[in-house]
Amino acid sequence: MDSKKTKKQLAKELNNLSQRIAELERAEIERKHTERERKESIIRLKTGVKNVRDRAFRFSPSIIFDYVNPGEEEIFGFRPEDIIGTQLKKTTVESESPKSSGTRKRILSGRMIKKFLISRKDRKKNPGYKKINTTPVEKEGRIVGIRRVKRDIRERNQADEELMRSVEKNEALLIAIPDLMFRLDKNGVFLEFIPEKEFSSWKPSCELLGRSVYDVLDKKVARQFMQSVKRAIETGETQILEYQLSLKGKSHHYESRIMADGKGDILVVVRNFTRQKQAERMAAIDPLTHAYNRRKFSELLDQEIKRVEKNDRSFSLVMLDIDHFKKINDTHGHDAGDYVLKRMTKLVRDNIRDIDILSRYGGEEFVIILPERNLKGAMVVAERIRKVIESACFDKMGQITISAGVSDFIQGDNRESVFKKADNALYIAKNGGRNRVSVH
Ligand code: GH3
Ligand code: MG
Ligand code: MG
Repeated sequence: MDSKKTKKQLAKELNNLSQRIAELERAEIERKHTERERKESIIRLKTGVKNVRDRAFRFSPSIIFDYVNPGEEEIFGFRPEDIIGTQLKKTTVESESPKSSGTRKRILSGRMIKKFLISRKDRKKNPGYKKINTTPVEKEGRIVGIRRVKRDIRERNQADEELMRSVEKNEALLIAIPDLMFRLDKNGVFLEFIPEKEFSSWKPSCELLGRSVYDVLDKKVARQFMQSVKRAIETGETQILEYQLSLKGKSHHYESRIMADGKGDILVVVRNFTRQKQAERMAAIDPLTHAYNRRKFSELLDQEIKRVEKNDRSFSLVMLDIDHFKKINDTHGHDAGDYVLKRMTKLVRDNIRDIDILSRYGGEEFVIILPERNLKGAMVVAERIRKVIESACFDKMGQITISAGVSDFIQGDNRESVFKKADNALYIAKNGGRNRVSVH
C-alpha cells in the first residue's frame, strides 16, 4: 500500500511528522521550564521559611500542598512528606480551610487575610491557640498559590483558659503600642513579629519572615544595625540606633532598640518618629524662607558656643539686613517683598557651606553662624554674598543691596557679646552708606 503513495503524499506525511516532533519537543521544553520554575520557587520559599518557628505552608489555588516547613510536624504532628500533594481538607478541619466563608476568593483576588483562632484541635486532639496569616503568592501579576503562616501562641499541652486570657491581654496591649516589635536571629534574619502588625512604610511582616535586615534597610544602615546587634550580644546592653529610610521619595525616621534575649535571639523595638521629626522641623524653620527661625538660632548659637569652648575652637557671625526694604514693599507690594526675601535667602545659601547655619532673625534681617571661620574668613564670605546680591536681578524690583556686620567669638565672649558685636558692625555699615560689610 505504502509503495502506492505518491511522492507528494510522502512529503506531506513527512512534513506532518516533523511538525509533530517539533510540537513534542516544545512541550517537553515547556514542561522542564515549568518544573524548574516550580523547584526554584519552592527553594526560595524553603529558604524563606525554614527558620520560621511557626507553621508555614503553601498550596496551589486548588488547595493542594506543595510545601510545608518543619513547623508543621512540630506543631500539628503531620510529616511534610505525608502532606505534600494532598488536599488541605484531609489534614485540617473545615474552619481552617480558606475555602470557607469566601476567604479563598478574597485571597485569590490578592488580599492578605489575618485570622486569630482561639481554639482548635490538632490531630492529637489537643486544643490549640493559633494565629494565621494567609497571603497570596504572586508571579507576574498572577496568583499561583497561597501561603499560610500559623503561629501556635501557647506551649503545647499546657493551655488553660487563664494562660489564654493573659496571652490575649498581652496581645491586645502589644497591638495598642504603635512600635513594631520583632525577633531576629543573630544574623539578622526575621524570625517573628510580635504581634503580627506592620508599618505601612515597611514591607508586610509576613513577607519579611525568613529574610534579613539587609532586605529591608539600606546597605549602610543594615551594616550599622548589625554592628548594634553584635554589640547588644557582647555587652548585654540595649543598643539604640536612629536611622532614616527613603521610601517612595519620602524620608522616614526610625529609632530601633536592639536587645539580646540571652537565648541567642535578638529582640527589636522600632519606633517610627517621622511625624515628630516633621513637627520638630516645622518648629525650627521659618515657613517663608526655610531658613532657621530666631528660636532655633538661639539654640544653635548656644550649641556652637559650647562646642568651641569645649574644644578651644572659634566661629564667626555675619548679620545681614536688606537695604531700604520698606521701600520695596511700599512700591511693589508685600508679595514682591516676600519674593525678594525668598530669592535672597537662596542666594545666600548658595554661597555658604553646608555646615554654616543660616537663620532669619527678624523681618529682613538674617544671621549666619560660620563654624571654624575667623573674622577675616567671615568677612570674605560676607563680601562675596554682598556682591552676589548686588549683581542679581530681582525681577521688576531690579537691583537690591544688603549691609552686613561681622564678628568673631573670642575668649571672654558669650552669646550676648558676640551678637552685640555683629549688630554694632551692621549699624556701622548702614551708617557708612549701606551696601557694605563692616566689622565691630
Ligand atoms: P534699612 O536700609 O535701614 O534696613 O531700611 P529698611 O526699610 O530695610 O528697614 P525697616 O526696618 O524700616 O523696614 C523693614 C521692613 O520689612 C518693614 C516691614 O514691613 C518689612 N517686612 C518685615 N517682614 C516682612 C515679610 O515677611 N514680608 C515682607 N514683604 N515684608 C516684611
Ligand atoms: Mg533693612
Ligand atoms: Mg531691619
